[in-house]
Amino acid sequence: MKIKKAKVMGFCMGVKRAVETAESMAEREDGRRVFTYGPLIHNPVVVNGLQERGVGVLAPGEPLPEPAGVVVIRAHGVAPAVRQMLEAAGWQVTDATCPRVLRSQKIAEAASVRGETVIVVGDRNHGEVRAVAGCARDTVVIQEPADISALRLGSACTVIAQTTIKQEEYDRIVSLLKEKFPDTRFETHQTICPATGERQEALRLLLDECDAIVVIGGRSSANTVRLAHTARLAGKPVWQIESASDVLPEMTAFETVGITAGASTPQHVIDGVAAALERLSAKRT
Ligand code: SF4
Repeated sequence: MKIKKAKVMGFCMGVKRAVETAESMAEREDGRRVFTYGPLIHNPVVVNGLQERGVGVLAPGEPLPEPAGVVVIRAHGVAPAVRQMLEAAGWQVTDATCPRVLRSQKIAEAASVRGETVIVVGDRNHGEVRAVAGCARDTVVIQEPADISALRLGSACTVIAQTTIKQEEYDRIVSLLKEKFPDTRFETHQTICPATGERQEALRLLLDECDAIVVIGGRSSANTVRLAHTARLAGKPVWQIESASDVLPEMTAFETVGITAGASTPQHVIDGVAAALERLSAKRT
């Protein structure tokens, strides 16, 4: 069995930055407890690893523990009101919001200052969408075309996409908005992050060269699930796993096995899976 790795896989820039920030906070020596605001990323290997190093998780919306410690804001960001609440309660806030999400937040803030309605297109339960929507006074979240029918809009709106939605999805919502509100001026922003598309494209190239695919990432990671879905559509055997302990002997029963990983999968987990596949393959021969 030969292993081929996708040319682009694993941590995106924002996730890498957030994990490094949390890890550096874990090494502080001033005795203050360190937490992330919500699970740092959708990857239990990383979250458990941080917990072993003393980095806990604050559950958003739940009462804050005492005494106040250090809190790391994850790549999705938080609304300014959340940050103010943490600071008012005495927490030291370390911001690891992804620069791409920060840009969306700044666009929302500026539009709000101009008195415009801010429309965020994306999953209304996603932390990033709440973080961006929370930067404006007048905000609407559109998750699907049906949400447009009940809308009432003023003369000017700024439209922002969640960084991880598909371009076609965003374009469709924008064109439906323009059709339904011909008298409203829409300022639309290109805020979709290329990270998801790059991993999908690298997988498509890998599919041409492999007989089976192993997708590595957290079970609740949306972009990992989407990678596995794309691979299944190609009709090849696909396994979606979280770590080396999930590797099975049958994964090695092919001439060429491709490996890809979601944007929240660390390199050491990818390397561990590749090594486990090699070991099992060597046993077969
Ligand atoms: S997917 Fe893009 S926007 Fe989201 S954290 Fe990664 S780099 Fe930032």
